[in-house]
Amino acid sequence: MRVVIIGAGLIGVSTAYFLAEKGVEVVVLDRQPGPGLETSFANGGMITPSQADPWNSPGILRKLIRWIGREDAPVLLRPAVVLPLWRWGFQFLRNSTEAKFRVNLVRNARLAAYSVRTLGELRARLGLHYEDARRGTMRLYRDGGSLRSALDLNAKLEGSGVRWQALDPAQVVALEPALGAVESLLAGGIFYPDDESGDAHLYCRLLAHHAMQRGAIFRHGVTVLGLESSEREIRAVRTSAGRVEADVYVLAAGSYSPVIARSIRLAIPVQPVKGYSLTLDIRGWDAPPRMPVVDEDAHIAATPLGHRLRVAGTAEFNGFDASVDPRRIRNMSRFISDFYPGLRPFIATTATSTWAGLRPYSCDGVPILGATNWANLFLNTGHGHLGWSMAAGSGRLVTQLICGEPPDLDPAPYGLGRFQRL
Ligand SMILES: Cc1cc2nc3c(=O)[nH]c(=O)nc-3n(C[C@H](O)[C@H](O)[C@H](O)COP(=O)(O)OP(=O)(O)OC[C@H]3O[C@@H](n4cnc5c(N)ncnc54)[C@H](O)[C@@H]3O)c2cc1C
Repeated sequence: MRVVIIGAGLIGVSTAYFLAEKGVEVVVLDRQPGPGLETSFANGGMITPSQADPWNSPGILRKLIRWIGREDAPVLLRPAVVLPLWRWGFQFLRNSTEAKFRVNLVRNARLAAYSVRTLGELRARLGLHYEDARRGTMRLYRDGGSLRSALDLNAKLEGSGVRWQALDPAQVVALEPALGAVESLLAGGIFYPDDESGDAHLYCRLLAHHAMQRGAIFRHGVTVLGLESSEREIRAVRTSAGRVEADVYVLAAGSYSPVIARSIRLAIPVQPVKGYSLTLDIRGWDAPPRMPVVDEDAHIAATPLGHRLRVAGTAEFNGFDASVDPRRIRNMSRFISDFYPGLRPFIATTATSTWAGLRPYSCDGVPILGATNWANLFLNTGHGHLGWSMAAGSGRLVTQLICGEPPDLDPAPYGLGRFQRL
């Protein structure tokens, strides 16, 4: 069997590896010169079943309205995209009821927990080292009301296997002494001992190498223009380098999956949600942060990755514009240097790099995996803010579906069938 995978980000590379491991002939097509160079390049680095809550939580509409036009808002809706977004946006809001949110949260938590187990097996089997750490993560709250809501939310994670511990400000600082300067500003925190972290781009490069050792071919610099289909089957991928044929096709092109799917009139309810990161070289800091933390009120995360600190956050609905807006970077820099005063000397150095990427966000906040109405077309897309947390598990699950093996997780909750009849 020959499988063509479109996209060499976290999701495409993970799928390629698991297929190649089974002896399947794999060809990966990607327009970039190497793996993991778009949204998987400089993400927050957190592997977090604990953050399984979709962003369309109950009350999101009120918050979105409150944040309109505020450049420092955690979620920014640019007026120009409101109209093109209406259909997806309507579904996004429909999924923010208490009942739907809870179902979607547990779906995400299950897939992410499965993915963490899968990643651990891969790490052990292949000896992968991607600046990985297993120290857990911590969510911080400056507002007592937000902390209480978060603890209520955690009650909904019951049964999903996610463990947590509520912390008062002194316990937060005991776990992460680098936060000593802000102890008096905190209402408290929540510690998630099973979360992990690591460099997603490095993982993509390493795993692509292992996939290639098992025979996978990566064709970089090839832009996919569309799919050719008959009524029931995909016949070929049209690319900048000609037609490419296979027995099976996997669409794993992140935010661009719906753009490619349009060529066969397949609607995939995924939209790009822009986020930013800055990466600082913190060599020379005598007491650097030890563990990843998320400021829940500002939606900003800071993750140590070896001798670097990755600061990531913000969500902006602005179409496919992936340019770096210096105002957003300035807001994040200001915020993070208030949090870690010891970081200030490192922020203005030339060793700081800035980046923006487009999270492929599905309208219910759960990824879209598996079969389509075309017998030989599979999806692996729409992982939103959790693509790193779910990559290994999604790659293995889709491989099992393609190979006709009993899947480790029931795929139905992740299927396209939840939006349209298959
Ligand atoms: C600021 C930010 C912080 C984040 N933090 C975290 C985090 O801490 N933890 C977490 O779990 N997730 C996080 N995420 C989300 C995560 O990074 C994404 O979900 C993940 O990278 C998506 O992977 P992907 O493979 O689907 O997409 P991508 O990485 O975008 O891969 C898609 C690939 O398809 C290729 N492609 C697209 N169109 C075409 C075409 N026409 N022809 C050829 N090739 C094409 C692209 O070149 C790209 O390589 C974050 C995202 C952002 C933006």
